[in-house]
Amino acid sequence: MADPVYRRVVIKLSGEYLAGSHSFGLDHPTIDRIAADLIRAHELGTDIAVVVGGGNMVRGMDVSVRGMSRPTGDTMGMLATMMNCLALEAAIEGKGAPAKTLSAFVMPEISELFTRSAAHKYLAEGRIVLLGGGTGNPFFTTDTTAVLRAAEIDAQAVLKATNVDGVYSADPKKDPNAKRFERLTHTQAIEGGYKVMDATAFALARETSLPIIVFSIAEPGSIGAVLRGTGRGTVVAG
Ligand code: UDP
Repeated sequence: MADPVYRRVVIKLSGEYLAGSHSFGLDHPTIDRIAADLIRAHELGTDIAVVVGGGNMVRGMDVSVRGMSRPTGDTMGMLATMMNCLALEAAIEGKGAPAKTLSAFVMPEISELFTRSAAHKYLAEGRIVLLGGGTGNPFFTTDTTAVLRAAEIDAQAVLKATNVDGVYSADPKKDPNAKRFERLTHTQAIEGGYKVMDATAFALARETSLPIIVFSIAEPGSIGAVLRGTGRGTVVAG
């Protein structure tokens, strides 16, 4: 089997994906499948940190239109990402692989605080590190968190796991003429306004010279394929 192309990556996993075919909550068979995939990919020898989203429970923007302030809604969203991390951590450890959740918030009874040194330490110990709580600030997303954390922990790429196999010119589920891009620059990704990731995330990746690989996590084994450089996806790089 080919050696991995990357020494260390951050994988962005949306909360929505953890709901499986449901629109809300946690789908345990899906979480188990992702845990197994992460463990197999990790066995290739790449350090893996996972930034987990919270869209399967709360998105600040959605709840704030119902009379709640955006920062309050966003705080709820960030807490939702912690619940997802704990579910994924339990699934990974249940399969006998070591994992560790680090939080952007101080919550000592639940999780250790994210610091660069803690992340380096647990990755060096061979754990799959799960990063919860987003950036710890409202008005950001976990896409931006993934790029931020990747830059902080000296990762070589951000792997953005989605339902589709890359960035398309339009929604491929709605437009049969949608074109898939093999490669885009960060600037093209921002100017194209593609919905796959927010512009703040692309802009920070441009500034920190981090490639983003957008790929589908729907096929088992796809994380490992991307790590070996044989996966299908769109590379967004400078
Ligand atoms: N969030 C936030 N700051 C962050 C990251 C996330 O306020 O740094 C909140 C925001 O309300 C967001 C929610 O947490 O809608 C869940 O994150 P996201 O929407 O990125 O999750 P995903 O869509 O990937 O499941």
